[in-house]
Amino acid sequence: MGQTAKPTRQNRTITIDFHDETTYFALLSNPTAFVEFVLAFLLSLGFQLLHKGSCSEGGRLTRHSHYTRVRLGGLTIWRIQCTICKAVFTVLPHFVLRYRQMRPEVARDALLATHGGLSLEWCAVICHISPMALYRLICAFGHHSLVTVLTRCDLPLPVYVLADEKHSTCRADRVYLPTIVCGRVLWHLGYTEAASAAAFTQSYGAFQRAAAQQEPSYRVRGVLTDGFDSTTKSMRTLFPGARLGICLRHALLKLPKKLTAIASPVRKALRSQFHTLLYRARQRKGLRVFALGQRLRHFVDHVTTTAGTANGERVRCWFQDKKAGWYAVLADSQMPVTSTLLDQAHNAIERKLFMMKGFHHPGGSQQAFLTGLAHLYNLIPYQRRAQHAGQCGVEVEGGRVPTADWMLNLQILTSGGFRCAVASFTT
Ligand SMILES: [Zn+2]
Repeated sequence: MGQTAKPTRQNRTITIDFHDETTYFALLSNPTAFVEFVLAFLLSLGFQLLHKGSCSEGGRLTRHSHYTRVRLGGLTIWRIQCTICKAVFTVLPHFVLRYRQMRPEVARDALLATHGGLSLEWCAVICHISPMALYRLICAFGHHSLVTVLTRCDLPLPVYVLADEKHSTCRADRVYLPTIVCGRVLWHLGYTEAASAAAFTQSYGAFQRAAAQQEPSYRVRGVLTDGFDSTTKSMRTLFPGARLGICLRHALLKLPKKLTAIASPVRKALRSQFHTLLYRARQRKGLRVFALGQRLRHFVDHVTTTAGTANGERVRCWFQDKKAGWYAVLADSQMPVTSTLLDQAHNAIERKLFMMKGFHHPGGSQQAFLTGLAHLYNLIPYQRRAQHAGQCGVEVEGGRVPTADWMLNLQILTSGGFRCAVASFTT
């Protein structure tokens, strides 16, 4: 089964926003003006062309570059070659999708409907395309790594992250979606058929490698999980030295399950006391770790008194197991405290997967499909009534997107022929 995304081919196709089609057709007859338009567009985004490693042009095209006009599905497009390294760039105008007959505005509507939770089949019906064409389109975007696209938006690699796995099903089998979130942005959405630490390490490792490739000195300082063993182990392997915290909200949800054979009001009262305890521990900045240890011991005594020895003992063992993770959350004020945003992301993705059961076929590329959905999750703006209406997740987290049109952003950011100008990393 296709578990890993195919490596991105070194394609040097670039999508350029010509604003409207007439501008494009006018420029076709004027090579100098054409190249100048392309370069001005790249400059405005802070991008450079991806020349070959040896190229002394350092990412620039010159007037001496070679041009050829080719016909692509009835449309004339330009290919530009660097005279020094011979790298060839195919310039796609904004109104064309790479390798696809489908027009971007058709794709936009279909992808938006998919993102909104409509099944691929229904999206295909309302947009007059085949479900398979839509599936392949999402996979095509998904062949580009989340890390590449997000760093092109000037987002720094995440230093504190949420990591957790969604348990899902693919046809009848249990599958897992190891996920890394920072704020409202998905940095990794993997796919494994095993819940082992080894399988998770392999999945999360794809993120770790992509990030290290962008920035060799990249380090994760803190990871919040909800304590699943394979997740914790894989984080320890991949990010040695990172603080591993356990979500405090999950702790609150778990407590009632540790208290058996007692009246409901007693359970409720204990839960609310535990809530207060964690809340106060967060408020007291200086001594909060010490304070938490002491308060947890007092709380166990209180449980023993009000709910009996068996419950007291169960809670004590549970605290023993989890408290290092809670300390880690409280010891670093930059650590995320709850995994709420990650749960939201998982729920959004789960709704889509649920709608797409028909596409979990043995030959499918689940990893590429999921990554494609993650791009949509990051780049499609929130709706009118949402808290951050009109902005996409990338923007809410402080990133920049190339244009005001999310579909065009998706086309541009998943182009193969760009790299970020070096300057944008140092500022
Ligand atoms: Zn070159």
